Amino acid sequence: MMAERFTLSGTAVPVDPARMLDGLCARFVEHSDVWRSGNTATLANHSGKADLRSEGGQLSIELSCPTAAMLQMVRNVIAEHLFMIAGDEPLELTWADMPKPSALPDFREIRVVSASNVTPHMRRLTIACADVAHFRDGGLHVRLLIPPKGRAPVWPSTRPDGRIDWPKGEDELTVRIYTIRSIDLDRREMDIDFVLHDTCGLPMPGADFAQNARPGDVAGLLGPGGGGVPDAADMILAGDETALPAISRIAAEMPAGSRLVAFVEVETEAEEQPLVSAATLDIRWLHRNGAAAGTTGMLEKAIRSEIERASPDTFVWAGCERSEAKAIRDLLKARGHDRQRSSIGSYWQRPQ
Ligand SMILES: Cc1cc2nc3c(=O)[nH]c(=O)nc-3n(C[C@H](O)[C@H](O)[C@H](O)COP(=O)(O)OP(=O)(O)OC[C@H]3O[C@@H](n4cnc5c(N)ncnc54)[C@H](O)[C@@H]3O)c2cc1C
Repeated sequence: MMAERFTLSGTAVPVDPARMLDGLCARFVEHSDVWRSGNTATLANHSGKADLRSEGGQLSIELSCPTAAMLQMVRNVIAEHLFMIAGDEPLELTWADMPKPSALPDFREIRVVSASNVTPHMRRLTIACADVAHFRDGGLHVRLLIPPKGRAPVWPSTRPDGRIDWPKGEDELTVRIYTIRSIDLDRREMDIDFVLHDTCGLPMPGADFAQNARPGDVAGLLGPGGGGVPDAADMILAGDETALPAISRIAAEMPAGSRLVAFVEVETEAEEQPLVSAATLDIRWLHRNGAAAGTTGMLEKAIRSEIERASPDTFVWAGCERSEAKAIRDLLKARGHDRQRSSIGSYWQRPQ
């Protein structure tokens, strides 16, 4: 974890602080390290750390993050979860530094410059942003905010309790998570690669946004966040095409001397892309050849076999369909793989 410098205290007064603490720990365990001891808990990930204590009818919160923007983001995430856990029950949440209703610090408006297919089912949008440098550090991923068609976008703001005030009704935004594939600081442009996936007949606003994008279209980005390039000399990378942008970016940022084995599951050979890396990169493409995405188990099988010959220090990184991600997490847990040496993300979910 990076050095932590930005701190903030908060106090939540829920109906049952101990239950609130249990609820937070249960929600964060999938994406963060959670240490629980009696009436205290610490939640930590690359974005920062939250120390929580349930005492005297309230839950004290101490946040500590490497950047001011991350602090705002962590405050927002904690606030959102607290209110979700509280449901209909009353909850008071105050912060030492109460945010004024204002634009979100990690929000940026973007404009589509061009759109073209990299492979038959991967569409690349090049987008312009006045402040691309903002997206260089702090994570590989963003929340893409898609405004309703034909309306001037209304962007979210911060509420005094730290939650995001999302526009509602006709101004409601569609939110999907994507990876910044590459950043061009000189041109003030970034690429995002969108999978044009199957939908089982359901709408797919994220993929449709890419499919129909025209130069000049406006959208918003919130972030960056959600994990960066792991600090490891030996790494196993695994993912389906939704994780290919992240795998490409990790490979591109890994230094010479490090060793990567990457398993990428795609439909056919036509979806393969060249990957560039200064590291020693061994890439193995896995083809579904007509099987439905998120059903093959190929990634888990590949990791299972590769990890047999890997050193215990090897970092295992994966991004794929939710049940496949769970199978990989279960595999690593069963093998006793150090949790600090893995990051396994659910990138999308098949309909139940
Ligand atoms: C950290 C992170 C980074 C991500 N980065 C990227 C990225 O760079 N590029 C990218 O394309 N995606 C990425 N994703 C995945 C993306 O957020 C999801 O695929 C999202 O569901 C797409 O939204 P949609 O509106 O197109 O479809 P949705 O409205 O979410 O889903 C519509 C239907 O399509 C199905 N579906 C969704 N995604 C897929 C898929 N990939 N294959 C098959 N069926 C699918 C759903 O099960 C549902 O039935 C990332 C996700 C995470 C968590």
